[in-house]
Amino acid sequence: MSPSVYYEYDVVVVGAGHAGCEAALAAARLGAKTALLTMNCDTVGQMSCNPAIGGVAKGQIVREIDALGGEMGRVIDETGIQFRMLNLSKGPAMHSPRAQADKKAYQFCMKWKVEQQENLTLRQEMVKGLIVEQDRISGVIVHGDAQYHCRAVILTTGTFLQAIMHTGEAKTKGGRAGEGTTGTLSDSLVHLGFELQRFKTGTPARLNGRTINFSVLDEQPGDEDPQPFSFMTEKINQPQMSCYLTETNDYVHKLINENLDRAPMYSGQINSTGPRYCPSIEDKVVRFAERDSHQIFLEPEGRYTNEYYCNGISTSLPRDVQDKMIHSIRGLENTEIMRYGYAVEYDFATPTQLNPTLETKQVEGLYFAGQLNGTTGYEEAAGQGLLAGLNAALKIARKDDFILDRNEAYLGVLIDDLVTKGVDEPYRMFTSRAEFRLLLRQDNADRRMTPVGRRIGSVSNERWQKYQAYDTELKKAAQFIQSTRYQGNTLEEWLRRQDIGWTQISEFAPALEDFHFSERAIQQTLIEVQYAGYIRRQTAEIEKQKNVEALHIPDHIDYQVVPNLRNEAKEKLSRVKPRNVGQAGRISGVTPADLTVLVLYLNSSS
Ligand code: FAD
Repeated sequence: MSPSVYYEYDVVVVGAGHAGCEAALAAARLGAKTALLTMNCDTVGQMSCNPAIGGVAKGQIVREIDALGGEMGRVIDETGIQFRMLNLSKGPAMHSPRAQADKKAYQFCMKWKVEQQENLTLRQEMVKGLIVEQDRISGVIVHGDAQYHCRAVILTTGTFLQAIMHTGEAKTKGGRAGEGTTGTLSDSLVHLGFELQRFKTGTPARLNGRTINFSVLDEQPGDEDPQPFSFMTEKINQPQMSCYLTETNDYVHKLINENLDRAPMYSGQINSTGPRYCPSIEDKVVRFAERDSHQIFLEPEGRYTNEYYCNGISTSLPRDVQDKMIHSIRGLENTEIMRYGYAVEYDFATPTQLNPTLETKQVEGLYFAGQLNGTTGYEEAAGQGLLAGLNAALKIARKDDFILDRNEAYLGVLIDDLVTKGVDEPYRMFTSRAEFRLLLRQDNADRRMTPVGRRIGSVSNERWQKYQAYDTELKKAAQFIQSTRYQGNTLEEWLRRQDIGWTQISEFAPALEDFHFSERAIQQTLIEVQYAGYIRRQTAEIEKQKNVEALHIPDHIDYQVVPNLRNEAKEKLSRVKPRNVGQAGRISGVTPADLTVLVLYLNSSS
């Protein structure tokens, strides 16, 4: 039966989670007529798990998203209830912003941004299939006898494909508590030849704060001078709320051990892989049997709710065990559980099926972003959404692809890891994944990303003007400290000494005060001077690698005819289709010797 209703768009984004919202906003801002279709308009930008944004390496991603004109940073600045800069005792490359969000306020704020955006239609729809003609996407089919025709589709369906939730022996279909699942989309993808696999993730119980005994818990306040995520936010003005710390104990561990056969992961009920770095409490108790306690952070979910999230004890144990476990923890003896913890298993699409633009190799115009690509985390999802949205709109406008290098941004590392290496467990970002992390700092994300964003059109005039004013300040500061001398040394040389700061050089050269440099410009100048040696070394290393790595590999290369290439390398290279030698070298199973053979072949055939 043919559908009775058609809609026409340039870009259709499926799913309004963290990836979907950024994707839709980015595409619309680049001028594409965009539809954002989502199962439920009341869950736009919902945080399925932890009510927090940022953290180590993730905070850097949020700053990059913001510097490119994305929305996550501004939304958390408006709705955050506790801001902390992590790792301040370490060097600046490790400084990472993190904030607790008012979960509902965050959602409303993101929904509002989406609703306000020109060129963007938000609509409640359940997408059940894709329309593909001659390996090119041409639209989506939704429940209720309607179709959306378009030139690009961005799928950002998160944990919702063939999703099953587990709490002990109880199983329910759905990608998030209280919500449904979409099996037909998985069927549609498999039918098109995509490889799907299964991962799992879990979430802890939420508690009623009225019944928590805060008087016996350790309070963790926010920073005294909270720092915003967005380069557009001048100051965080809202009052902050505290988190509280408690911990598991011997009795809790014994209880968990005694009930492992009722934990879906150990009873064989769940076989898929979960996030190794965000394990469930039953996982921690088994893997770290020598530990007699694990920390629990009680995090408020908002200003107008008494619900608390128990960070550290994600679980899929049955309800009766969760009750006993919670009631055996310091401060939680009489606490009421508002929502029980659960695990969810879901389909994801093997990300090596994607180009670095996040467009699929099989179907032109079809993009995947977010948890669907095997990642975990709101920030990783939002970053992919932004890049997929930008690339879809650029392609429609017949402009060049937008691909970030590993040495330019964490976003570059993220995409390159996904499309080159694939994933064997839910992928989250770490600073250790970035070879050039001294350059990829949160403090300089705007210096790295905003000019690039301006070139492709994702940076607004307002942001660009602000950036230019800041850039001018930095140039003036650098010029002054390099050209002004005191007792024979330039101010820059003085600043390289550990015991000399801005106050001292202002005394050496009082004219410095006349510039009225902003605090941000001063801090940035200090970082650049103090780390100049490391930065120079990493920059030289990048330059050295660039020449060989940048060697382009033609799209239609036939690896079978490359002499002396090993069969494993032929198979991996044919599957991943790297764009250049650098990417080829990062594919697991491709050795340095294979690369030498490949470079010889490329040079001889060019
Ligand atoms: P989501 O935020 O899941 O958004 C997907 C969107 O797609 C939703 O709006 C949904 O309604 C919509 N949608 C799905 N199918 C359709 C369809 N057919 N038609 C229309 N709309 C559709 N991350 C961590 O970093 N740490 C954790 O500990 C952690 N635990 C988690 C625990 C649970 C139980 C869950 C569910 C998630 C957890 N996550 C965790 C993951 C985190 O929630 C995701 O990484 C993040 O939300 C992914 O963003 P996304 O935009 O890809 O997908």
